[in-house]
Amino acid sequence: MKPSLMDYTQKELMTLIKPSFRVKQIYGWLYHQYASSFDDMKNIPKALKEELAEKFVVNPLTIVNKEVSTDGTIKYLLQMQDGKTMEAVWLKMKEKQLDDNGDVIQEAKYTICVSTQVGCKVGCSFCLTAKGGFTRDLTAGEIVSQVVTLKKDNEHKHNRKINIVYMGMGEPLDNLDNVAQAIKIFKEEEGLCIGGKRQTVSTSGLSNKIDRLGEMDLGVHIAISLHAVDDELRSELIPMNKAHNINSIIEAVKRFPIDTRKKVMFEYLVIKGKNDDIGSAKKLVKLLSGVKAKVNLIYFNPYPGTPYERPSKADMVAFDEYLIKHGLLCTIRDSKGMDISAACGQLKEKIKEEK
Ligand code: SAH
Ligand code: SF4
Repeated sequence: MKPSLMDYTQKELMTLIKPSFRVKQIYGWLYHQYASSFDDMKNIPKALKEELAEKFVVNPLTIVNKEVSTDGTIKYLLQMQDGKTMEAVWLKMKEKQLDDNGDVIQEAKYTICVSTQVGCKVGCSFCLTAKGGFTRDLTAGEIVSQVVTLKKDNEHKHNRKINIVYMGMGEPLDNLDNVAQAIKIFKEEEGLCIGGKRQTVSTSGLSNKIDRLGEMDLGVHIAISLHAVDDELRSELIPMNKAHNINSIIEAVKRFPIDTRKKVMFEYLVIKGKNDDIGSAKKLVKLLSGVKAKVNLIYFNPYPGTPYERPSKADMVAFDEYLIKHGLLCTIRDSKGMDISAACGQLKEKIKEEK
């Protein structure tokens, strides 16, 4: 596998490619024009392109499948240079708004959900990604390219705002070096210019790595996949909880640098008969007192072979109302793209089945 130009910050590329004004041009081709090959780079001398083509690829990903939902969600199956595949999701968060004359007041808003690994080592019992085991970490360029590839496919201009959530396949903090490099490349002013505030890293709770991410001071948000209020159930759902228990995660969150006005998101996957009772809601309120937290309730999304079930709407609403009544900010995540293949990890598995 050749390295990709998308593995590097502009400064790093300047140490690899001379002269530096060519790097600035190349950066424009990568992140403003979304070039997919050296041929696209019109103002770069042929000799330099030939030299670069021996060492680097431009974009390490190709789209192999796409599923479009009626709500505007698009799931992409993307292939890497070694033939392995992973997925990224294009999510429409807000519809375009028009005034009475039909003029645009507000453009539609989008979020891209990126993968960080092929498979995952954490092995959560409710997660389809975990079923396939772990294959490998994604490189920084493979993470960066998911955003470039999806923006390009949706003709989304480089200067249009986009949010990134690291909630696709894999555990981002288990591939922290490459994830941190991707965060930096996204932030590059002459690149995509996506600030830390627009990037949210979701983790199953490797507490020591939460500290390391905090020390890097990249300005990103974190989301904690909590899912349970006691260690016994959490260890059943997320085996790694034995090494990083709930308390160690809460303590790490308290140390994490966040914008004074912002809150840390706690994701709580609601599973019927497991953690959907008011007793759990009560414990959750207690657990999060003293933490600047907001809670995102997620309906468990069933798939063939899972022992777990989706909770009822009534239980979900009662849980939500209890948290709000007791002073927690809380939202229920609307499951986007339900008609295509639901939660992250499910598109890839579906294609495997059909083959
Ligand atoms: N590994 C990271 C990020 C990827 S998972 C993490 O666990 O946080 C992203 C989110 O999808 C997590 O909150 C995870 O709990 C959730 N998820 C996994 N399987 C799911 C399912 N079957 N239904 C609903 N959400 C699921
Ligand atoms: Fe990995 Fe996240 Fe799935 Fe757990 S929920 S197996 S950490 S991807």
